[in-house]
Amino acid sequence: MTQPDATTATISAPVQRSRHVEGLVCGQPTTDGAGVRLRRVLTQHWQHRLDPFLMLDAFGSDKPDDYIAGFPEHPHRGFETVTYMIAGRMLHRDSAGHEGLLENGGVQWMTAGRGVVHAEIPQQEEGVMEGFQLWLNLPARDKLCPPWYRDFKAAELPRFTTTAGVDVTVIAGSSHGVAGAVSRDATEVLYLDVHLPAGRAFAQPLPAEHNAFLYVYRGELSVAGQTVPTDRMAVLANTPGADGVVIEATADARVLLLSARPLREPIVQYGPFVMNTRDEIVQAVEDFQAGRLG
Ligand code: MN
Repeated sequence: MTQPDATTATISAPVQRSRHVEGLVCGQPTTDGAGVRLRRVLTQHWQHRLDPFLMLDAFGSDKPDDYIAGFPEHPHRGFETVTYMIAGRMLHRDSAGHEGLLENGGVQWMTAGRGVVHAEIPQQEEGVMEGFQLWLNLPARDKLCPPWYRDFKAAELPRFTTTAGVDVTVIAGSSHGVAGAVSRDATEVLYLDVHLPAGRAFAQPLPAEHNAFLYVYRGELSVAGQTVPTDRMAVLANTPGADGVVIEATADARVLLLSARPLREPIVQYGPFVMNTRDEIVQAVEDFQAGRLG
């Protein structure tokens, strides 16, 4: 740990019985924005199973042609986008007047709510750009809330180290008594970045009804005897009687761990709009075309 605000967690959070892995997912290579190459790990196929998570994209390249075009102006309505930059520099600018530079280890949390138009433009012409963008649904009652935006630099993100030497960054929710940067009442979303030395384990209690998955972006780990290699999403079963998940690193590993309470509401997505009904989507498109989103 190099962060000055690092704390050593002394509260143990034992898990008596771990969830198991329901399935491993590679995701689909695709391009988005003006031609950014990425891998859509959590696709629309998983939106109901992993409710309230709508999408997870992983991007990572040292070839400027893969990322330089960025994401020019585009709208969103009805959900939140969470961008976690592992390496690189990206400028965000939106119609609600927010502007921020997202850099190595930083998080940008944007609640689109009733609507924003924004652009995400790389601020580098060479080197590695690597990170993730998560789409998190909003409950029906909040889909038309005012837009909200916050940047967190790496040093502002709460983190702790377990007695086993596992480093944990708490982006959202709460882990081992450490409150994260963001909390959401409706979904109780948990978003952790966990770095485990080979041979070490990390236990995270999870409410049984919450949907959960992890994504290994370095190394390899094991969950209840199932190996999860690099660049795989493991959907965690809502195993009856399981009170959390135990992750064991079989090599030095870095993994995103996410869980949340499902909203159990209808999901209707049309590109960058995610609402509950088709009529609400038609309204979103009309509002965008009439310039009412920004
Ligand atoms: Mn966007």
